[in-house]
Amino acid sequence: MESRLEHPSTSSAWRRPWWAGWLNPLAVSFAVVPYLDLLVGRRPGWPELMLGLALSGLFALGVFLPRLQTFGPVLCGPRPGISPRIALTYDDGPDPSTTPRVLEALGDKRATFFVIAEKARAHPELIAAMHEAGHQVCSHGFRHSWWLVISPGRARRLVLQASKVLSRTGIRERRFFRPPYGLMTPPLMRVLRRSGITPVGWSLRSYDTIRSGPADTFAQEIAERARNGDILLLHDAPERPGGRRPLGIDATGTLVKALESKGFELVTIQEIHDGDGSRPIEVDERQPIRRLPQGTRTADRHRRWPPAFQARAGKSGKGEEKRARTG
Ligand SMILES: [Zn+2]
Repeated sequence: MESRLEHPSTSSAWRRPWWAGWLNPLAVSFAVVPYLDLLVGRRPGWPELMLGLALSGLFALGVFLPRLQTFGPVLCGPRPGISPRIALTYDDGPDPSTTPRVLEALGDKRATFFVIAEKARAHPELIAAMHEAGHQVCSHGFRHSWWLVISPGRARRLVLQASKVLSRTGIRERRFFRPPYGLMTPPLMRVLRRSGITPVGWSLRSYDTIRSGPADTFAQEIAERARNGDILLLHDAPERPGGRRPLGIDATGTLVKALESKGFELVTIQEIHDGDGSRPIEVDERQPIRRLPQGTRTADRHRRWPPAFQARAGKSGKGEEKRARTG
C-alpha cells in the first residue's frame, strides 16, 4: 500500500486517448485540400480553410507526440511493475567528450542508449564500453536529421542504413528504434511495423538539452516527477559535436542516487517492454507483417535484417518459416 502511495502510477498506466485513432492518414489527408486549392490558384473558402488548418494541427500532434500513438503503437510508458522501476534512456551519442562521464556515473546501473549510427561508427570503443557495462544499445537513426517529410522508401533506407552500420560496430539489437526528435510519421511507422521493430517514445521528458542551472537541482526535480514504469528521455551527447552540453550528462550521478533513494530499480527498455507479468501490457503489439508487399528486393540485401524484413524479400512461406525459427 505504501508503495502505491509513493509511486502513484502503479494504478494508472498511460492509455492512448480514444480520439487518437481518428487521426489516421486518410482522415488527415483532407487537411491538404485547401493547400491544393492555393496551388492551382483557387481561393479556398473559410470552412475549408479552417478544417484544413485544424486537421493539419492534429496531424502535427500525432507526429510530434509519440504518446498519442496516432499512427501505430509506440512503447512510451509508463508500464508499471510490482516493484517501482524506471528506464533511463540516453539519445544522440556516443561522444568521446561526454558519453564516458555518463557511463561512469551510471556505474553498475543499467540504462538504454539510442545511438546515432554515424557517431557509433566513429567511436566503436564507446559502444563496446556500453555493452561491457550491461547497457542496452539501440538505433536512433543514421544521422540526426529531420524525418518530417519522408517517403516510405527513404524511411526504410535510413533505418536499414543505420542498422547495417550499427551491426558493424557490434550492435545486434534491432528490436527497438527511436527516430530523431521522436518524429513518428506515418511512413516511418509503417516501415517499423512491417519490419517488426518497436518504436520507442518516452513518458517523462527531462528537457535536458534546453534546461540550464545546477545539474543536482535538475536531477532532484526529475526524480520528484518520476513514476513507476516511466521511460525517461535524457541525452548523453549534444546533437552535433561541439553543440550545447545537455544537462543530463552531469545530472546522471545525482539522478541515479535520487531515484534509488525513492526505491526505483533502474531497468532497460527491453525490461519495460517485456513487463514483469504483474499487469496486462497496455500497448497493442501488432504482428510485424500481415501481407507481403509487391515488387520487393532480393533476399541477399536483407540477410542481416529481422525475419520480418527478410520476409519482404523472399516468398511468404520462407519468411514465415524464418520468423518461426527465430521468433
Ligand atoms: Zn535525438
